[in-house]
Amino acid sequence: MCICVDCRWVDDCQAYHAVERQHGVPHLCDAPAFVPDSPRIHVQVVDLPAGQVGVEWDVRGCASFEADPGRWQRLCPGLSLPR
Ligand code: SF4
Repeated sequence: MCICVDCRWVDDCQAYHAVERQHGVPHLCDAPAFVPDSPRIHVQVVDLPAGQVGVEWDVRGCASFEADPGRWQRLCPGLSLPR
């Protein structure tokens, strides 16, 4: 799970914006201004149905992380957390 969903910067962060782009999901913000310090992005190849293969991108560590539990979910009520 990407730690960004519980970070206060998630809706203004350039690294999370890149993760959204890789996942092909809508952006929380069109032009984020915040540049995080040392985000570590974990890239994983995953099996998909019908023999397809996908790639998951998750931020697993970041020096700029500031805990704000549930921030992404509060910004997107009713939606499933991005995987
Ligand atoms: S954890 Fe880092 S990369 Fe993720 S939203 Fe927060 S500042 Fe951005």
